Amino acid sequence: MKTAVIYLGQDPTYKDSPMVELNYVKDFTARVVERGKNYVILDRTAFYAKGGGQPFDTGRLEWEGGSARVSRVLKEGGSIHHIVDEVPVSHEVTGKLDWDRRHAHMRMHTAQHLLSGVVFRMFGARTVGNQLYIDYSHVDFAPVSFTHEDLRRIEEEFNEVVETNVPVTIYEEEREALEESIEEERAIMELIPKGIRRLRVIQIGEIDLCPCAGTHVRNVSEIGRMRILRRRSKGKDVERITYELF
Ligand SMILES: [Zn+2]
Repeated sequence: MKTAVIYLGQDPTYKDSPMVELNYVKDFTARVVERGKNYVILDRTAFYAKGGGQPFDTGRLEWEGGSARVSRVLKEGGSIHHIVDEVPVSHEVTGKLDWDRRHAHMRMHTAQHLLSGVVFRMFGARTVGNQLYIDYSHVDFAPVSFTHEDLRRIEEEFNEVVETNVPVTIYEEEREALEESIEEERAIMELIPKGIRRLRVIQIGEIDLCPCAGTHVRNVSEIGRMRILRRRSKGKDVERITYELF
């Protein structure tokens, strides 16, 4: 059974909410549709399943007379497995996200898009990899070789944008239309499976546009300021920037 992912706008209960607001759903009710030895599949979920450099959410499932810890959330085909320390006996559950962790990932993810956009504009380098954590993250760029001065300019440009209160919007668009409007080198469209015809787009004002299935904040001011911790060469023409937010 395919799980309706709330932050992707797949559940009709939330159809009147703007897409970006669906990233802020912290608790929800759902029906259990499948029970495994240590997991459950729900008809809908707000939990993020590990993928695209963003770690899974953690939290709790609660039901009449019991509750369980959700320690991992993984995608298996079209289903989302909530790994639990106790399998709910009830058909109806309430899911509650560990919000501090999720919100940290949202800030980090929007920061990653902004950083990728800034580096793309300044150096024409594309993003070839990224990994987010709660307290720091890194992005790999190519082809590029940053000087110390370059890093200072990237940091400065990023932090100037954060001060401008630019809104983050999320919408869906047909792949063909997006392929025409997006700057080819910014988003690696060929990495997105050909079968996906409609894409979820994350737009940061006029600064960046990128298809993504991750969770994001509603305004750049929510990211906070960014500091580059280090840069490291990751092979020919590939450089990794590690950053934190504060
Ligand atoms: Zn993303």
